[in-house]
Amino acid sequence: MIPLFKVAVDPGAGPLVAEALRTGVLGHGPRGEEFEEALRARLGVPYLATLNNGTSALHLALRLAAEPGGGGEVLTTPYTFEATNWAILANGLRIRWVDVDPGTLTMDLDDLAKKISPETRAVMVVHWAGHPVDLDRLSSVLDEAEAAHGSRPAVIEDCAQAWGTVCRGRPVGAHGNLCAFSFHATKHLACGTGGMLVTPDEETLRRALRLRFFGIDRKADRVNGDYDVPEWGYNFYLGELGAAVGLANLASVDGRVELHRRNAAYYDAALAGVPGVELTTREEGLESSFWLYPVKVADRAGFIRKMTAAGVTVSAVVRRNDTHTCVRDVYDPALPGLESVHDRVVHIPVGWWVSERDREYVVETIRSGW
Ligand SMILES: *Cc1c(COP(=O)(O)O)cnc(C)c1O
Repeated sequence: MIPLFKVAVDPGAGPLVAEALRTGVLGHGPRGEEFEEALRARLGVPYLATLNNGTSALHLALRLAAEPGGGGEVLTTPYTFEATNWAILANGLRIRWVDVDPGTLTMDLDDLAKKISPETRAVMVVHWAGHPVDLDRLSSVLDEAEAAHGSRPAVIEDCAQAWGTVCRGRPVGAHGNLCAFSFHATKHLACGTGGMLVTPDEETLRRALRLRFFGIDRKADRVNGDYDVPEWGYNFYLGELGAAVGLANLASVDGRVELHRRNAAYYDAALAGVPGVELTTREEGLESSFWLYPVKVADRAGFIRKMTAAGVTVSAVVRRNDTHTCVRDVYDPALPGLESVHDRVVHIPVGWWVSERDREYVVETIRSGW
């Protein structure tokens, strides 16, 4: 079978992990510090905190964006992995669904503009499959909302699938929002499990660093018990073994992302105009990391049967979150964009492990019909 996901481990990881094991520093330590330094340099952003996973980054981002117990609403997309939206519920905030652009499967910014209100605490966008939401347009939508309501909701970007994604010349994570990354084993940059939150300013980072460790300042004098916790926090920091794997993988991740891009460019050309297949709308300046390659097909069940029988792993990957039982109280029937594509979306193998021969075979199999 040609897999849909594959875990990359750079050969440099072994020695780094062995060194951590030998020194016995397995909690927070020098490899964690070095990993954060390398991430700052790579993204060109000064304020970031590594964390134990991407879901923690989302929880922390929402905590930082909205006052605890303050309530209010978060505008979000139903087309994502559940981690995105359950973090909203965990923070005691209300979900309001925003429609999806059928061309890109990311948030429909026109629908967002209609739904922002004084109740909106935060806007949560997801760079699904690595395809960037247009962050410049999003920023103008927020400018207009601010002019109309006198307050500006925080923007949280779920960048879990978007390591390597570039929006209008800058990598995502570098547009001044709260940005949550995942370093899960299957993601572009893997620690095993791990994540990161990028913050827009130093003060927010200082809060994030305390909140990832129970609300305690690590430099506080705990020997003499002379410290205070201004606000309670979590156990969200990244361990040394994960940091060691991340550090090693960071050295080779760009090459792997480039292979995803080449395979995607091949599919864009080779699948254009194939009957029963609709491709993602591309736009100048919005450069996907192609963690996944979604297509919209007629008769998805038949497509999945055909591809599986041919040895090609394909998957819907997610189900729209808004139809789950646990959020039935906020169900919104008026999401025509999502409705028009949801049952047709399927993802085909695009990763660094897909050879030229493999991708030709995938296209031939699709072209032969289902
Ligand atoms: C992977 C993923 C997450 C969760 O990240 P973890 O590191 O597994 O906690 C969140 N959102 C999206 C869109 C993801 O793909």
